Amino acid sequence: VALKPQNLNKVINAIYPLISADATVGEKNVTVEQHSIPDILIDEKEIRQLILNLVRNGLEAMSAGGNLTIGTLADGDEVILTVADQGKGIKPEFLKKIGTPFFTTKDNGTGLGLAICYSIAARHNAAIDVKTGPSGTTFYVRFKVNFVHQ
Ligand code: ADP
Ligand code: MG
Repeated sequence: VALKPQNLNKVINAIYPLISADATVGEKNVTVEQHSIPDILIDEKEIRQLILNLVRNGLEAMSAGGNLTIGTLADGDEVILTVADQGKGIKPEFLKKIGTPFFTTKDNGTGLGLAICYSIAARHNAAIDVKTGPSGTTFYVRFKVNFVHQ
């Protein structure tokens, strides 16, 4: 990993064209809600991949259309990235399995997207929380502002 101080808002802006292209299929919208956040030490390529994987899952979950919101916020000693969809949610029995390599509920899924997200988060000392219900799912990626890689 090549960690450099970078702003997550810049990373989101850089991949926004890719994200909005993904959302052109079906009645789907992507909204970005950026707050002022401090730079954090990240490997930009890896964080692009993490965001794209979460966004793709969110868009894929909204088979009937809906809005996907990518957000940033500063909270205490954390910078939090949120990816919120209005999809059908994750069934409780599947929630503990997501992120296990090759676990997928999709006909053509690889089941690798979230496994990659979790390993990227681990290399950044970041935590991933999930809130899910019948009206949608939100992933929270929580980075420590003071994280210093040895
Ligand atoms: P894949 O997308 O190839 O299935 P992932 O590792 O990206 O693999 O996701 C694993 C599984 O987690 C998905 O098949 C799906 O069941 C569930 N999942 C992930 N993100 C979401 C989401 N935003 N909404 C609903 N289910 C999700
Ligand atoms: Mg996926």
